[in-house]
Amino acid sequence: MPHRLAVIVATPAHSTVVGPLSYLSELPLAPGTLVRVPLGRREVLGVVWDADPAAAPPPADLAEKPIAGVLEGVAPLPAAWRRLVGFAAGYYQRSPGEVALAALPVQLRGLNAVQLARRLKRVAPDLPATAQAAGAPALTQQQQQALAQLQAGPGPFLLHGATGSGKTEVYLRAVQDLLERDPGAQALVLVPEINLTPQLQSLFVARFGAEQVVALHSGLTHPQRLRHWLAAHAGAARIVLGTRMGVFASLPRLRLIVVDEEHDPSYKQQEGARYSARDLAVYRGRLEGATVVLGSATPSLESWQAGERGRYRRLAMPERIGAGALPRVRVVDMNHQPKKAVLSPPLLEAMAERIARGEQSMLFLNRRGYAPVLACTACDWKSDCPHCSAYRVFHKIDRTLRCHHCGFTERVPRACPLCGNLDIAPLGRGTERLEEHLGELLAGVRRPDGGAVRIVRIDADTTRHKGTLEAQLAQVHGGEVDVLVGTQMVTKGHDFRRITLVAALNPDSALFSADFRAPERLFALLMQAAGRAGRDAAQAAASEMWVQTWHPAHPLFAALRRHDFAAFAAQQLQEREQAGMPPFAYQALLRAEARTQEAAQAFLNAAREAAPGLEGAEHVVLYSAVPMAVQRVANVERAQLLAESTSRAALQRFLSAWQPVLLSLREKGLIRWAVDVDPLAV
Ligand code: ADP
Ligand code: ZN
Ligand code: ZN
Repeated sequence: MPHRLAVIVATPAHSTVVGPLSYLSELPLAPGTLVRVPLGRREVLGVVWDADPAAAPPPADLAEKPIAGVLEGVAPLPAAWRRLVGFAAGYYQRSPGEVALAALPVQLRGLNAVQLARRLKRVAPDLPATAQAAGAPALTQQQQQALAQLQAGPGPFLLHGATGSGKTEVYLRAVQDLLERDPGAQALVLVPEINLTPQLQSLFVARFGAEQVVALHSGLTHPQRLRHWLAAHAGAARIVLGTRMGVFASLPRLRLIVVDEEHDPSYKQQEGARYSARDLAVYRGRLEGATVVLGSATPSLESWQAGERGRYRRLAMPERIGAGALPRVRVVDMNHQPKKAVLSPPLLEAMAERIARGEQSMLFLNRRGYAPVLACTACDWKSDCPHCSAYRVFHKIDRTLRCHHCGFTERVPRACPLCGNLDIAPLGRGTERLEEHLGELLAGVRRPDGGAVRIVRIDADTTRHKGTLEAQLAQVHGGEVDVLVGTQMVTKGHDFRRITLVAALNPDSALFSADFRAPERLFALLMQAAGRAGRDAAQAAASEMWVQTWHPAHPLFAALRRHDFAAFAAQQLQEREQAGMPPFAYQALLRAEARTQEAAQAFLNAAREAAPGLEGAEHVVLYSAVPMAVQRVANVERAQLLAESTSRAALQRFLSAWQPVLLSLREKGLIRWAVDVDPLAV
């Protein structure tokens, strides 16, 4: 008598198959076992799932197929992992199959037992039983205190440490301490940006040896990812460093989870299952009894609020390492500067002084390219993208107009396409133009050795090729650069030692944005940017953070001047509470894409009309359907509808009841839809 198995497979979004499929097996197989099963005409990877005792038996006339095979040698995925996947699927309104299979290395799908056995041999050996930590500095008093509290447990902890306070050393010691107490234990360390993983990896490898450390992020080749995943799954890798996808790593002995720069929006997945790796890390920690540490100099207001309420335990490290002081903040009132000055004269002078002393400056601007738009000086023509409701950006280096939304690229026209005027001019400024402009402004300035100023630009355009970012960063660290120009990419995480001046050139748009999170993000950006200056104690006294603004009296700048995150957070939280916004309310967005804006909105309106009477609906407010901020991308019209509740549980109940309704709607012209739970941009 064959055994009936529930198996999850990667189901396409919104197929009607949401739960496990039923297969037969000669042998009983434990939940978590990896199997290959026939699906339609293909054979796909599946995971034996926990049978749902409440599920109805399959209809008697269903011809159940036998599984095609078992992936021998790979231990079943642990129960805690299955529960994490099940929770994430439920919470983010996707199928467990989609979440689970997306979390597994692609190569597992194509491997046979022989190949696998060969790879496995390479991961499981002769494991060093203990941590061989070496080269650790003596901890500062505040690091010691934070660590002692961590060890006392249980958490979750919010490590609120100033930039340069030595948070990384606390993570390293927490891991070391764990491995000394429990040589078989595993730790997961998450960072927001793939760019930051090499830096962190070399620190961990130097401390613990290469055998114990593996990385999991999207920059790995398929074979690398498989090898690292297997090492973690087999328990051979003690330390897994990853980006957000790492939160789904299979770690049978997980005891510690660190989420560094926990405020970073990159922790939120923006397609498929739109999960928050930070939030799942907290859930996972509770599920597996692992200590969770969220670290940041500028915590998300959600986490800060959880600290205020005592749900998270706050560990404070306000002081920088050594005598490193936080830079002095200088707010330049652009109302009193020469008209059209991109760099105010006092800022320029301060930079020139730095260059003459052989110190580095860093300028950032949140726009790459040369200019955000080209315009005709005689008529109304602007460089719109024909496929999107957005302008195409002018890139001077190859004289192209490029759409940053759909990628559509064309050569810059010789003359205005509408009126033939030859005079078409860039409007506004991106990093490429800033770099050029700085070259002119600083042409007369000399370095201590008499040489000319060396400017380097770091943004998505200059770092497209593998290895270029590393090379550019090495130049900065090596002192081969005097002025670093970039997008916000340069403000994150890097431990620059020679920068004594950081400047934000045009942060104002975020002050009056419709997005209620814009001030939070701006404040974090500015504080993190300030955190790149004066990291070296010898230079700290001279270090400065400059902000050019037309609104110098804005309260955000007052808090920034004092480096007072707590004051800023308190003020923002008060506003959010009065307005009934997160973290005092919970949100989900229903997004729709269609051939026409009408069709997108018609779907959303139909969804809204079907809501009354559904479970939880009486506690949920549904707003009107509206076009998205960038309404059309690649000829697809986009609209969204906000659902909000003061009860997370009620919102969850409602979304679950809404899902089958949404699946049943068949609006003409609709291309796709998705639910985004706890969206970051509303
Ligand atoms: P954060 O992540 O909090 O911004 P980092 O972890 O980058 O700070 O630490 C800042 C610098 O201080 C790093 O160069 C680090 O090596 C150094 N550091 C950290 N802890 C100590 C310590 N206890 N003694 C000496 N140097 C330390
Ligand atoms: Zn024209
Ligand atoms: Zn476009």
